[in-house]
Amino acid sequence: MTLLTVRGLGKSFGGVKAVDGIDFDLKAGELLALIGPNGAGKSTTFNMVNGQLKADRGSIKMNGTELIGLAPRAIWRLGVGRCFQIAETFSSLTVIENVQMALLSHDNQLFSFFKPASSHARDKALELLSQVGMQEQADRPCSELAYSDVKRVELAIALANEPKLLLMDEPTAGMAPKERNDMMAMTKRLVIERGIAVLFTEHSMDVVFAYADRISVLARGRLIAHGTPDSIREDRNVQEVYFGG
Ligand code: ADP
Ligand code: MG
Repeated sequence: MTLLTVRGLGKSFGGVKAVDGIDFDLKAGELLALIGPNGAGKSTTFNMVNGQLKADRGSIKMNGTELIGLAPRAIWRLGVGRCFQIAETFSSLTVIENVQMALLSHDNQLFSFFKPASSHARDKALELLSQVGMQEQADRPCSELAYSDVKRVELAIALANEPKLLLMDEPTAGMAPKERNDMMAMTKRLVIERGIAVLFTEHSMDVVFAYADRISVLARGRLIAHGTPDSIREDRNVQEVYFGG
């Protein structure tokens, strides 16, 4: 079942065509990697899908609903999640408090977080934390966590909104190879278990080839190749862009 349909999507900054008329589809239960050299237009594409940037042209439909023109919050409400970085303010809260806040926010009940002895959504938060392998660290302040564990908490926070589509712009940036693989293996498991779709970018080709179901390759705002990891590996255009031919 096709969840997201992107057609003729474009965005310019001044004279620069950051994204120049791209098409792609995303199905539920699928991991699509959007790859390409720096400046190819990956982040611009992500930001148009989540509504942070307004597209100049084209369409982005989720289950038939046009997303272009909707506010980021409306798009988030429709089930487009992304991994927000835990802000400074929230890093003094514990791991589970951050997830509880996200759950309350999803239910429009954020005000009750500060009620006395708030145990709201604790069980549900623990369940989400166990899905990202962080249940043991539930009561530690986020400020004490290793970087890769913060990324896991951010993923649990994103899941609290019950996304249908999760956007992950360089989710493993700054991680060691083992942590990258752990993060992507966990993401893959969540995609399968929850039937959500993930659009992600990633610099390590090994990780992309190991975890993506399909790959779309951007270069200078245009899609130059699209297909399974095997077909992309053999693609002449991609080899030129990445390895100079
Ligand atoms: P990627 O994420 O693939 O590295 P980006 O989407 O960030 O690429 O950038 C694509 C192009 O658009 C680049 O040439 C970049 O300099 C330009 N660009 C991105 N954001 C802006 C902006 N806010 N203002 C001006 N130019 C931008
Ligand atoms: Mg980027």
